[in-house]
Amino acid sequence: MPNNYYETLGVAKNASQDEIKKAFRKLAHKYHPDKGTGDEAKFKEINEAYQVLSDEKKRSQYDNFGQTFSGQQGGGPQGGGFGGFDFSGFGGQGGFDFGGGGFEDLFGDMFGGGRARRSSGRGQDIQVEVEITFEEMISGTKKDIRLRKYVTCKTCSGNGGEPGSTEETCKACNGNGQVRKMMQTVLGAFQQVVTCDDCHGKGKKHSKNCHTCHGQGRVQEEESITLDIPAGIDTGQALSLQGKGHAGENGASSGDLIVEVYVKKHARLVRRGEQILSEEKLSFADMALGASVSLETVDGPMTIKIPAGTQPGEVFRIRGKGVPNIHGRGRGDHLVTVTIAVPKKLSKSTKKALEELRKEGV
Ligand SMILES: [Zn+2]
Ligand SMILES: [Zn+2]
Repeated sequence: MPNNYYETLGVAKNASQDEIKKAFRKLAHKYHPDKGTGDEAKFKEINEAYQVLSDEKKRSQYDNFGQTFSGQQGGGPQGGGFGGFDFSGFGGQGGFDFGGGGFEDLFGDMFGGGRARRSSGRGQDIQVEVEITFEEMISGTKKDIRLRKYVTCKTCSGNGGEPGSTEETCKACNGNGQVRKMMQTVLGAFQQVVTCDDCHGKGKKHSKNCHTCHGQGRVQEEESITLDIPAGIDTGQALSLQGKGHAGENGASSGDLIVEVYVKKHARLVRRGEQILSEEKLSFADMALGASVSLETVDGPMTIKIPAGTQPGEVFRIRGKGVPNIHGRGRGDHLVTVTIAVPKKLSKSTKKALEELRKEGV
């Protein structure tokens, strides 16, 4: 966990510089490694907190970005999250460029980059979009896609070394796997601890790099993947195929393949959850007298009986002809709303017949 500098010094967040100085002196005195009560780790912590809080500029940056600036002192790889920023190089604020991206962008990039590099080289996820028809959504379907992606190098099995070569300590990072880099930002100069480029963080290097992947442990290849898209999936839902993303560097684990699914609209059928909705226009005569009506369902045409005296807006339920439950738990229903079709043109005889009906008050 990142330290809270205020807690480390035992002062309030709005403590004055005087209070901070006093608190520091007292604690530094107590924990100084030369003293009987000394504690080197604690002393370092106190010192670090004081370095930041005693400088109004650093302090306000710390206040604003708090725990992000955990100021961890490099060393071995730290588990996940942010960190790895070192305040020791903070002082030298050279001329930096205010132009270009905004403050937060810059920050996002910095931390984003730091985080990605820190995740032990795990391969990146791949995101693809797949479009299926309404009918494919009902039945479930398979889709073949081709991806150009990193795969583990077969020559070296991902370790990056030419077969038969030996491993030696990386000279660029003295085997630490990490190096400190100066970063110029709008907040000043930071030392950022980043993964060593030479050895990709392993601290060791092969005497000879694999000739196929040039030491990366992975190569780009085109791969065909068959996606099994389950029945009932809805637009915007995604499938996550573990380990089907890019292979990691140096044999690190692969990312995932994220498949976002889009279901094309149907001309007449609309999905609502696990129900399918449609509208059927019937003549006044069919509704008044009752009729057998042929309807379109996702399972093909079906005939339903409309009773005499059916009113516009009445809903008929066709059980089990809706959308399959994505977890395989049955299917929804198809709901047909009946409306009335009023003819725009009438033949002479129809017109006469209707006028007769009107006289009768129908
Ligand atoms: Zn290789
Ligand atoms: Zn190295």
